[in-house]
Amino acid sequence: MAGEPQADCLFCKIVSGEVPATVVRETDTTVAFRDINPQAPTHVLVIPKVHYSDAASLAAAEPQITADVLREAGGVAADEKLDETGYRVVFNTGSGAGQTVFHAHAHVLGGRGLNWPPG
Ligand code: IMP
Repeated sequence: MAGEPQADCLFCKIVSGEVPATVVRETDTTVAFRDINPQAPTHVLVIPKVHYSDAASLAAAEPQITADVLREAGGVAADEKLDETGYRVVFNTGSGAGQTVFHAHAHVLGGRGLNWPPG
């Protein structure tokens, strides 16, 4: 059923606690944890606890939880004091754009200069 945990999903296993993660924020609907392969001094992933393969499918089914993910991304930035220096929130969508884990997630990146356009 839509949104249900998927047995083969790494991020569902982080939600359940089966796979450990360095959790920095958690709400009823979201978890934020440090990326295992950080691309910036701050690199945190914010995920919904429900399983949707990407941000667009999450937004179509669960607009409130999508808003929760964005609010928590801002919370991470505030916690990490990125508000003044700037930060980036990225949803890679599809393997052609670099998505490797097919459970919706926002990357929160900051703490260094960020070029535009991204590679
Ligand atoms: P994507 O490439 O946009 O799908 O992002 C997936 C992210 O998950 C990558 O930045 C990975 O480094 C990260 N990642 C993969 N496995 C783990 C893990 O076990 N803990 C934390 N981050 C992970």
